[in-house]
Amino acid sequence: MLVLVVVLGRSELPFEDEDDDEHEDDENMSAERFPCGCTFVYSPDYYCDIGAHVFPTAKYRLVHQALLGDGDIPPERILAPEAASREDLLLVHTEEYVQDLLAFRHTRRTQCSEVPISEQIIRANLLGTGGTILCCRRALSEGFSMNLAGGFHHAFPDHAEGFCYINDIAVAIRRLRADGLAGRAAVVDLDVHQGNGTAFVFRSDPTVFTFSMHQENNYPVKQPGALDVGLEDGIGDEEYLQLLAAHLPEVLDVFRPELVVYQAGADPLADDQLGGLALTPKGLRRRDERVIGSCARRGIPVAGVLGGGYARNTQDTVRAHHETCRVMWEAGKQIADCRMPTVE
Ligand SMILES: [Zn+2]
Repeated sequence: MLVLVVVLGRSELPFEDEDDDEHEDDENMSAERFPCGCTFVYSPDYYCDIGAHVFPTAKYRLVHQALLGDGDIPPERILAPEAASREDLLLVHTEEYVQDLLAFRHTRRTQCSEVPISEQIIRANLLGTGGTILCCRRALSEGFSMNLAGGFHHAFPDHAEGFCYINDIAVAIRRLRADGLAGRAAVVDLDVHQGNGTAFVFRSDPTVFTFSMHQENNYPVKQPGALDVGLEDGIGDEEYLQLLAAHLPEVLDVFRPELVVYQAGADPLADDQLGGLALTPKGLRRRDERVIGSCARRGIPVAGVLGGGYARNTQDTVRAHHETCRVMWEAGKQIADCRMPTVE
């Protein structure tokens, strides 16, 4: 850790010492590789009206507001996405399902979703997916990026599931691969629910490692990923963080991804309406620091997506997502010689 301080020229680190000292040699590489820091991706049209629902789509706007309220993130650091194209979707989803989605049709493929379908809802999903694509691109060019939406990890190639129509994580990884931008990618999915759709998409793709740590006794029906850690009900901060620390090296050091897509769901928080773990807000922040800090120390770019979050008080979910954004921003600030990039 001493070397990291010297290289980055900072006396204070936002991350706790996470026993990653063996990766000190990577620090020169990471400082060189990440010249710019962190950007966020947001559209006001991430919001969509899904009626009375446990899924608070207002959270996107509220997280954006919270981020602006911090006062230290220049507006040009928050980029607007383009909607994902039909061609983007077809990199993961089937022709029949994409036709249903783009015509906002109730069919057996779309009706598996637990949210309604409308033009506005599909538009929001397309923007969220475009946001994750842009987020991955920015992560590769400057180290860290966070989409203030995304994480729809239950969507399968040929049908919707849960609250998920489009698997934005899978589409983004396939898009970057098709563009020749990404090599090996890892999905670190720490939503309280298993990333079953993502695991299914990449089940026979050796270039994508899907790691999911989730509550075992909960939705959904599990699909085998590259590494699944099913947690017992009611696990709290210390046990959770120990298990994360035990398994993360298999993802980062054995597979050695060139990009990590981090699904940072806020639903492992205690009392989440759809979750059964017992993390505190501080524990959730330490989770984020562990993932983002471990990647930073190894020179691995991180693209974050929000994922789930169903606290009784939506502000608790918003605060948790906001904290993830802060950890990402602070990781970007660690990089010496920060230059403002040309904003696309
Ligand atoms: Zn979830």
